[in-house]
Amino acid sequence: MTGEYEIKACAKINLGLDVTGKREDGYHLLRMVMQNIGIADRLVFRRNDTKEIRIRSNLKFLPTGPKNLIYRTVETIRDEFGIADGVDVELEKKIPVAAGLAGGSTDAAAAILAMDSLFGLGMDAGKMREMGLKTGADVPFCLLGGTALAEGIGEILTRLAPMPDCRILLVKPKFGISTKYVYQAIDEKMPGEHPDIDAIIKALDAGDLGGICANMGNVLENVSCAEYPVLDRIKDTMREQGALNAMMSGSGPTLFGIFDDTDKAERAYRFFKAGEYGRDTFLTGPVHKEKDCYGDRNT
Ligand code: ATP
Repeated sequence: MTGEYEIKACAKINLGLDVTGKREDGYHLLRMVMQNIGIADRLVFRRNDTKEIRIRSNLKFLPTGPKNLIYRTVETIRDEFGIADGVDVELEKKIPVAAGLAGGSTDAAAAILAMDSLFGLGMDAGKMREMGLKTGADVPFCLLGGTALAEGIGEILTRLAPMPDCRILLVKPKFGISTKYVYQAIDEKMPGEHPDIDAIIKALDAGDLGGICANMGNVLENVSCAEYPVLDRIKDTMREQGALNAMMSGSGPTLFGIFDDTDKAERAYRFFKAGEYGRDTFLTGPVHKEKDCYGDRNT
């Protein structure tokens, strides 16, 4: 039990996202290929002598009370384990917000690991997943990390072969898209053709980046790209700049392009960086992980 816990919490992209049905409670059933990428928030957790959860962030517009997913997660764990002590959290937010990159969920996963360490709770991976699911369906993947198939509402996870090394260009247009709205709209706007998730998994198994890119697909593009034509234009530009393929992550609006050629990727990065989306343009790569949780990323 130490007094301070520092961690990097990585974003994710979806290499494939399919909606396969709907549960009676209204939640959509999904099949998603998830991939951690090297854009990360930095979080520091400290126990304090008050009973308060106090969050400070470099982004002034982020909620710091119960609406923050870190706050909610810390509270869930305090309730579960009967912890009375307070926690101070410093959040250096680098992952764009409301972007389809699981920024809030990855912070929630970090909070679970931090609470486990700070209070010596001894949670196993199953207990951590259970706690994470109370905050959101993407949190269990964020705990697992690396490359994984997520099914059910996102909570049934199967580790997949790691994505081959490549460069991933991310561009987020200036607006945010509400995940809730996109899932509400998809029932009416389901495309006739669904992505071949099994083909993506096969390509991952074979270490075949071209095969992954050829089979990438996200049914939610049918909602987001239809409403915001700029999304298709950005994807087209990424392909013109040499991306093997380009797609929207999650419910958007972040677009990513996958490059097997570093020079082309850097040229495309400079191109977008100089344009109107420059502030939210990133060049990164896949993050791999051998362990079940990212305690090994505690820097
Ligand atoms: P996903 O890919 O899981 O759908 P997202 O990347 O689209 O998530 P988030 O960045 O998690 O979306 O933000 C969604 C909403 O959650 C925002 O409106 C934001 O205000 C709120 N939020 C609460 N806590 C956090 C947090 N720690 N980091 C980012 N957003 C948060």
